[in-house]
Amino acid sequence: MGISIDHNSCNGCGYPEHETPCNMACPGDLIFMQSNGKAQICSNADCWDCVACIKICPQQAIELKLPFEIVGKEGSLKARAYREKTIWTASDENGIEKVFETPARNDASLTTLISPEEFTDVIDSYKGISKSFMDLGVDI
Ligand code: SF4
Ligand code: SF4
Repeated sequence: MGISIDHNSCNGCGYPEHETPCNMACPGDLIFMQSNGKAQICSNADCWDCVACIKICPQQAIELKLPFEIVGKEGSLKARAYREKTIWTASDENGIEKVFETPARNDASLTTLISPEEFTDVIDSYKGISKSFMDLGVDI
């Protein structure tokens, strides 16, 4: 499936002074910032549809492209994560939306797994590289 990023909605999240949520959230290190300050995915073929970037984007600029078999062409899924729940919005080819929600994992389970302070360190070491600027040149 893969994602698409709406460059009219993406505001860059303070890049380059700040790391961007979508970039930090992607476990495949697939999202980079372009010279125009907009986020872009470098390889949709490598995206495994985990929706981490979609849930964390504060501008709701990222959506998951749904398969034709589910909602026809142009179907998409957006999501927004809150502390208690995630709100999902699925759109079909006619722009008709369905909204539903799922409960978030509670703080207790997250605390058991890993503390918020450790989480940042784990992300950094997992990726193993600093996020240097990458200009993709043209939109993909
Ligand atoms: S999190 Fe959203 S708004 Fe921020 S840089 Fe990424 S796509 Fe753009
Ligand atoms: S859906 Fe997951 S794997 Fe795909 S770009 Fe977003 S964070 Fe990365």
